[in-house]
Amino acid sequence: MDTLKITKKIIGMYEVKAKKSFGQNFLIDDNVLESIAGLVDTNMDDLIIEIGPGLGNLTHYLKQKSNLLLFEVDKNMVEVIENRFEDKSNLKLIFNDVLKVNIDEEIRILEKEKSKKFNKVKVVANLPYYITSPILFKLLEESQIIDEIVVMVQNEVADRINAMVKNKDYGILTLMMEFYAKCTKEIVVSPNSFIPAPKVTSAVIRIKKENKYENVNKEIFKELVHKAFANRRKKMINSLCMNNFMNLSKEDIKNIFVNCNLSELTRAEELTIHKYIELTNYIDNTAKSC
Ligand code: SAM
Repeated sequence: MDTLKITKKIIGMYEVKAKKSFGQNFLIDDNVLESIAGLVDTNMDDLIIEIGPGLGNLTHYLKQKSNLLLFEVDKNMVEVIENRFEDKSNLKLIFNDVLKVNIDEEIRILEKEKSKKFNKVKVVANLPYYITSPILFKLLEESQIIDEIVVMVQNEVADRINAMVKNKDYGILTLMMEFYAKCTKEIVVSPNSFIPAPKVTSAVIRIKKENKYENVNKEIFKELVHKAFANRRKKMINSLCMNNFMNLSKEDIKNIFVNCNLSELTRAEELTIHKYIELTNYIDNTAKSC
């Protein structure tokens, strides 16, 4: 397979240009494409969801491994995919913004159409970088069906996800990912593997969903983490207060800190996930007993 040659041919044939506004950087390195496909263990009883198939370069490799459900927002790309893959027996393409669809509902619709239930459902994608976090949060928070996510992200995002407490990269992404999953960096990818070449190095990460904190109140945890880091240079109490955390007064928030043995000087990046969970549980239990 010569993906570079095919990509140039498709771009010429359809006179398409990579659109910055849709985060389009097409993967043209066959070693990387093969490695990504090799990271997922699937067969024809499973489903791979690809977000943003673009010209279909990764789709080509995934199509040999599984049923495919594709979400693409760019009409030009939809036309390319429709024509590139004549055999659509294991491929369904949905022309829509992935952030606007109910993914689990679409999986169920496809299962009905095929009269079969998929064994495993995974997401594999070279993500549009401008919406990496919203996509990851959506997949983790909303889907009850997807169990693994293998995606290309900016290397810097991969580092933020795996950052240690007190590190400058430690933040919302680190904590939200740790809450829902276990994440590993699998491959580092040079800008030369894409056209057009992005300005940054990329990385493929594997996110395996885990139910570590099943009994923890997700809504409180999410609000706590987002508002603690909303003004990360300030003391955490002030950041929570300034951002109306659960509409509590500063006095209430101070009391929570005292009861959880936390100094008033604490900053958001100093607390491990265990402390965020402890705070969440304390707030949840106090609210329930009121
Ligand atoms: N998968 C292709 C590849 O690896 O060469 C293209 C990857 S490119 C980085 C990102 C793709 O996501 C583009 O095709 C873009 O049009 C699509 N995209 C951008 N925003 C999207 C959205 N909100 N919903 C669905 N697809 C989107």
